[in-house]
Amino acid sequence: MKYLKKIDWNKKNIVKHLMFRGEQALEFRESALKLKQELFGKGVYLRALIEYSNYCYKDCYYCGIRHSNSNVERYDLPVDVVLDACQKSIDQGYRFFVIQSGEIKTRKFINDISFILKRIKTKFSKDVKITLSCGEQCFETYKLWKESGADRYLLRFESSNPELFRKIHPADLNHDFRQRMRCLEFLKDIGYQVGSGMMVGIPSQTVEDLADDLLLLKKLNVYMVGLGPYVEHKDTPIFGANGVLSKAERLELTLNVLAVLRLMMPKINIAASTALDVISDTGRFKGICSGANVVMFNQTPAKYQEMYSLYNRKDCLENNVSENRHALEKNVKRINENFVYCTEEVV
Ligand code: SAH
Ligand code: SF4
Repeated sequence: MKYLKKIDWNKKNIVKHLMFRGEQALEFRESALKLKQELFGKGVYLRALIEYSNYCYKDCYYCGIRHSNSNVERYDLPVDVVLDACQKSIDQGYRFFVIQSGEIKTRKFINDISFILKRIKTKFSKDVKITLSCGEQCFETYKLWKESGADRYLLRFESSNPELFRKIHPADLNHDFRQRMRCLEFLKDIGYQVGSGMMVGIPSQTVEDLADDLLLLKKLNVYMVGLGPYVEHKDTPIFGANGVLSKAERLELTLNVLAVLRLMMPKINIAASTALDVISDTGRFKGICSGANVVMFNQTPAKYQEMYSLYNRKDCLENNVSENRHALEKNVKRINENFVYCTEEVV
C-alpha cells in the first residue's frame, strides 16, 4: 500500500489528505485500517464508560451540560450505583473503565472520585485500568487521583488555535487555553498515560486548524486520542451558528482526521467516538474502518444517561445500548474483526 510508505506529515501534506473525498479518501482510509491491523491485530478494544456526574462549573459554548443550562437536571451517581455498573461491566468482560464528568473542583467531588478509584481497584482486580475524564484540576488533585488508582487521563484541548478556542469558550480565566496546556503537562509529569483530542467541524474551524490540531497531538506525544465531530445542542450559545458544516461533511473530515492520525502516530489508542454515531448511522464503524482501535460503550444506568447530554443525540441508537452494540459488532465481524475486552495495547 502506497500510504504505508513513510509520508512526511507536515502541515501541507496533512491538509492535502484531509481534503480527500470519494474513492481517493476510501483508499487512503483503508491503508490506515491495514496499518492498525498490522500493529494491533484484528481487535477493537472495548471500554466501559461511566458518566459519573453532570454538574459542571464551566460554560463551554458548545456543551449541553454547561453550567448556565438550567434545563438540565443535575446528578452525582451514588457510589453503589457506580460500583454496580462496574460489576455489570466486569461480568460482561470489560477490564477498562472510563469515568467522565463535568468539571467540579469541590473537596467533596475530589474525595468522592478518590474513594471510587480505591474501591474499584480493591473490589475488582488490580489489572482493571481506569481512565478519568473530569476536566481541568490542580496538580495536587491529579496526583491524589493517580495515587488512588487512576491510570490514564483524557483531556481534550478542543482546538489548538487559541483564537478559535476563545470563540467557543467564555473569555475568562476559567476557560483559558494556556491553562489547559498546563494541565496536560501536569498529567504527564505525574505519570498518567495521557489522552487528548479535539472536535471536528466547530463553526469557523478550517482544515488548516485541524492540521495544527494533529501536529499538536504529535508534539504532545499523547498515549491515546479521543476526537469526534462537533454536534449541536439546542441549549447552547453556538447552536445555529453560521457556517456549520453539514453532518456528511463533518463525517468525511473526521474520518480523514482519524486516518491521518493512525498513519502519523501508528501505535496510539484512537477512539471512534460516540458522536460519530450521531452524525451517521454507521459512524463509529466507519471510524474503525479509518484506523480507530477503541470504542466505548455507555454503561451508565439509562435514567442518568438522559441527563448527561453533551449534544443532542436523539438520532443516536446509543439510547438502546444493546441494539447499538449489536449493530456495531455485526459490522465489525463483517470486516473480520472482533470486540476485545482485555488485551493490553501494543505500546
Ligand atoms: N468535562 C470534561 C469531560 C466531559 S466533556 C471535559 O470537558 O474535559 C467531554 C468531551 O465532550 C469534551 O472534551 C468535548 O470535546 C466533547 N463535547 C462536549 N460538547 C460537545 C458537542 N456539542 N459536540 C461534540 N463533542 C462535544
Ligand atoms: Fe463542562 Fe466538559 Fe461540558 Fe465544558 S465540555 S461544559 S467542562 S462538561
